[in-house]
Amino acid sequence: MEGKGKVNGVAAMAACYQGFDPAAYLQYNYTPPRADFERKDSIVPWKLACLHRAFTEGDVRGELLVDIGSGPTLYQVLSGCEVFNKVLLTDFLEVNRQELRGWLEDEGGCNLDWTPYLQHVCKLEGRRPSAWTEKAAKLRQVITDIVPVDVHRPHPLALDALPSEGADCLVSCFCLESVSPDLAAFTRALGHIGRLLRTGGHLLLIGALGESYYFGGPGVRIPVVPLNEAQFEGERLHLIRLEVYTLPQDMRVGVDDVSGVFFVKAIKE
Ligand code: SAM
Repeated sequence: MEGKGKVNGVAAMAACYQGFDPAAYLQYNYTPPRADFERKDSIVPWKLACLHRAFTEGDVRGELLVDIGSGPTLYQVLSGCEVFNKVLLTDFLEVNRQELRGWLEDEGGCNLDWTPYLQHVCKLEGRRPSAWTEKAAKLRQVITDIVPVDVHRPHPLALDALPSEGADCLVSCFCLESVSPDLAAFTRALGHIGRLLRTGGHLLLIGALGESYYFGGPGVRIPVVPLNEAQFEGERLHLIRLEVYTLPQDMRVGVDDVSGVFFVKAIKE
């Protein structure tokens, strides 16, 4: 019975995602006020600052960075692409992998212009904003593939997707809590992705706090596991730093009921 319940919960989440609309999702979450680069308290600049810090402290390094549940977004690898020679993007949905491929192939038709993001991260790195074209070229050079993932499988990626020792670093943003039917499934999924990491590798996890749903498109209401900042607990994952952001009132724009965001830096022991 318990096994069947688990499968049904996961299957129900997968069904919700069939209505996911990359263009709408990008519009809801990756345009102002949530992505206002003039405001220090805007959510996207906060996430970019956390990632910039994590990737420039010197301890996160290696050959391969893997982003779990990339969605249609690239912001999460704009700092890491300067540190790793290979970046693997992953998502459950073909529509999201398609969106990412569109940017990679640079043939136009993307649903979001990533230029202000590239410029902002260049600024964080102490480079002139016009260096964004070099960063875009670097990112296109290091992304090796965009592949399917399912965090509810004990092996979330195809067996030959990673070297046998695992990835050097994993980043995952707003994925586990928004694809899991409950906290137990979230914790199991964290265990599954943890296995993709080599011993001594780092996990950078960004996620929603206190969120019970978000819209993945017009009328596409996706349930989320409401988390608090004390709920990060992964087998063999040692917490290095936890940062918390509280959403200002004017960023509660009716596309979800998120109250804050957490950033976790952890190392696999
Ligand atoms: N990482 C992006 C971001 O930061 O905006 C997207 C996050 S979005 C809230 C959740 C993502 O999880 C979607 O892109 C969705 O396709 C993906 N997803 C859905 N089911 C999944 C599963 N079982 N395993 C991995 N990813 C899944």
